[in-house]
Amino acid sequence: MDAMGTDLELVSVTKRYGTTVAVDNVSHHFKPGTYTCLLGPSGCGKSSTLRMIAGHESISDGSILLGAKDISHLPPAKRGTAMMFQNYALFPHLSVADNVAFSLKMKGVDASERIAKAREMLALVDLSALADRLPDQLSGGQQQRVALARALITRPQALLLDEPLSALDPFLRIRMRGELKRLQQELGISFLHVTHGQDEALALADEIVVMNNAVIEQAGPAREVFNAPKTAFVAQFMGGHNVIALAQGHFAVRSDAVRLTDTGRGTMDGHITAIEYQGTHVSVCARIAGDQEVTALLPDAEFFTTPRNPGDPVGLIWEHEKQHELTS
Ligand code: ADP
Repeated sequence: MDAMGTDLELVSVTKRYGTTVAVDNVSHHFKPGTYTCLLGPSGCGKSSTLRMIAGHESISDGSILLGAKDISHLPPAKRGTAMMFQNYALFPHLSVADNVAFSLKMKGVDASERIAKAREMLALVDLSALADRLPDQLSGGQQQRVALARALITRPQALLLDEPLSALDPFLRIRMRGELKRLQQELGISFLHVTHGQDEALALADEIVVMNNAVIEQAGPAREVFNAPKTAFVAQFMGGHNVIALAQGHFAVRSDAVRLTDTGRGTMDGHITAIEYQGTHVSVCARIAGDQEVTALLPDAEFFTTPRNPGDPVGLIWEHEKQHELTS
């Protein structure tokens, strides 16, 4: 496998379904060997983008390049990509090993080589002991690892994952998250992972591409997108930020940068509307001028040193450099 990975590039890609524009003239360069999350609310065009890259959906306009090669019109199996679906799509009547080896069988690879490669992939996802089982004799997490091994056996340059964790319970989801990240680092290929969960994207991604209304709203390293959202949409969607509109424009400030003080001594005054204990932190919500809500996320010890109650007047304070302007 090419340890350096391969560039994947979308050039003015558009997808129309009848009169619906699902993806609108999107261009983006996915860096080699990077874990990228395509993040956005339902209906923003994430899956359509992924399916066009995989070749499961035709593109209406533009082109897709993998390496220097234009793959826009190649069939899925000829692209150098592989897709892992949300429902895993395993063949119920085939053993784990035969599921994993399936695409090699289609290519006419002989049985002994198929078995050897399938075993190698099963070892990679830690399933060697279950090679002879049928899919319905596996847990959800194990089925997912079979689906991963099956996608990876084709030695793709980019692995495409469509909401791969959404069918798992929360505990397993966090464990699989770790495994996906480990696999991506071990293989050194690009993973492109569609999710609507900001926590998932932050936990996994080197780069986050935020989509909204069929376009890319912001793309960059995970910390940059979280810490420096460019638009109100990104700040609100990523969470953890207050978006405050003033006459001269609006800005964002992280909830954990906001502290409480006496009225008249802060950046602005308000009244506490809600207090929520969250274990390590206490979330305090206050209403300020213009009926806007500001949330302060305080370490629990800090809150309980000066406890407050709903209805209390309060000053809200943060360092000026912690707030930053939004472009829209
Ligand atoms: P996401 O993955 O972000 O939820 P999709 O790419 O699935 O978004 O959908 C983007 C838009 O395209 C939505 O408005 C959706 O209703 C529409 N769409 C998706 N697939 C089809 C289809 N096969 N036929 C018609 N419209 C579709």
